Amino acid sequence: MKHIVLYSNGAQSAYTAYFVAKKYGTKNLVLLYNPTGAEHPDSKRFASDISELIGVEITEISCGMDLWELIEKEKFIPNPRAAFCTRQLKVIPARKYFKTLKEDFRVYLGYTKDEKCRAERFLEANPDLNARFPMIEKDLSAEDAKKKLIRLGIKLPESYLYFEHNNCIPCVKGGKNYFKQVLKYFPKQYQKMAELEKRFGHTVLKNISLEELTKEVA
Ligand code: SF4
Repeated sequence: MKHIVLYSNGAQSAYTAYFVAKKYGTKNLVLLYNPTGAEHPDSKRFASDISELIGVEITEISCGMDLWELIEKEKFIPNPRAAFCTRQLKVIPARKYFKTLKEDFRVYLGYTKDEKCRAERFLEANPDLNARFPMIEKDLSAEDAKKKLIRLGIKLPESYLYFEHNNCIPCVKGGKNYFKQVLKYFPKQYQKMAELEKRFGHTVLKNISLEELTKEVA
């Protein structure tokens, strides 16, 4: 049986990977990572630290495009109501990888005790993946995962200084306050998204463009 952690490079999936390695060993462990090309630069360092801690190379499977290229191709900016980026950049490449496997496998996700509904939705949508949620089984929160990694000597990804997650910068699922943080700390990426809004004629946020939000903040 292969144990495949859907590794997102955030604290939750990193701790999940550590937990699964402790429980089942590393021989049949896969840390499956689907890059988006829009990660914080410190993400690579974090991935390498986690790989070293656990003793398993990260299996990186890309769809061949980054987030920006995907938006250009679709001529549409994903948003919380239509976050097709997750499907294109992560779900489809992961599914392709699963198809190459000859042996039985089980996937593990880093959903926390506060994400039980999300876990239920995942199980319903992916009944064939035999999914497990160790953080939920152990009643652990996102904060617990961070604390446990710090105790193991791991420096958290720099993104956590500004955001609650280590997603793309910017993540199209973020709200107004999130984008204010992006404007403050990652103005280049903010402007890039604002330019795309102008070109494609629609916005990431529901009722305000990034250009208008910039004026609101000023
Ligand atoms: S992290 Fe956000 S922007 Fe990146 S793929 Fe997922 S939903 Fe899309």
